[in-house]
Amino acid sequence: MPQTKTPAAGPLAAPRQKAEPIRALILGGTSEARALAARVAGDARLHAVVSLAGRTSAPLASPLPTRVGGFGGAEGLKRYLTEEGVDRVIDATHPFAARMSANARAACAALGVPLLVFTRAPWSRMECDRWIEVEDNAGAVAALGEAPRRVFLTIGRLGLADFLCAPQHYYLIRTIDQPPENDLPPRYELILERGPFTVESELSLMREAKIDRLVSKNSGGRETYAKIKAARALALDVVMVTPPCGGDARVVHDVEAATAFLFGEAR
Ligand code: NAP
Repeated sequence: MPQTKTPAAGPLAAPRQKAEPIRALILGGTSEARALAARVAGDARLHAVVSLAGRTSAPLASPLPTRVGGFGGAEGLKRYLTEEGVDRVIDATHPFAARMSANARAACAALGVPLLVFTRAPWSRMECDRWIEVEDNAGAVAALGEAPRRVFLTIGRLGLADFLCAPQHYYLIRTIDQPPENDLPPRYELILERGPFTVESELSLMREAKIDRLVSKNSGGRETYAKIKAARALALDVVMVTPPCGGDARVVHDVEAATAFLFGEAR
């Protein structure tokens, strides 16, 4: 069941006067959503609620009202948008949160609610990078090959089970929260840590663990880019999972453009 965290989300929407604040929903769980929340918090022209999936046990605090938990698919989101009288939606979820983004597109299109995607640009490969680009975790497993490797696995907690079919490798796994025991491969070491990381710390981590392959999602952004720089410095092969296709919603990469969308368009 979705739960509401303090400060509380607003009551059900009633017919509004012109001077009432714009009601916005920010689909979050990312540094982009946190930056946007910090940028618009306290502005009386806006009543914005941040929504989190509830995956991490200790999410960073938000200055905006926050609700936690799934909506119940696109239909559930439609109900929420209608009941809360939401005027516009910002999808600031992670580039790999494909299901939530698809639901946002479907619900907003059905209701005629303006939608903007606020996300980070993916990383670009530099000439000296040794990337093996794959579409998904199954592709990443295939790219690791048959021979045993020492793999730094940084794809997050949820996809770890996809690597159980390649137990010949040693995995150095880094996640924010503890993964389920059954998803962990036979030979692994686990680091529970949240970014940002420095290139120096990534270099010494990879050197000490004698890593010879890095597996990463191409999530973009600065907070986790140090591992890519470190792999470049060590001339390591990087198995890079490319982000899913984001559909046809308008996309921006900076907080000012997202803020302008919240305040700038007519209702
Ligand atoms: P997902 O596969 O696209 O979403 C699965 C379901 O979780 C959605 O259908 C929705 O449930 C619920 N959900 C996801 N994001 C939500 C949100 N912001 N508010 C309310 N419900 C949400 O997403 P995911 O990959 O599991 O990611 C979950 C959350 O973690 C996202 O908010 C994302 O921003 C964040 N995150 C993801 C990654 C990643 O690598 N995937 C990395 C960092 C942070 P209903 O259908 O019931 O509405």
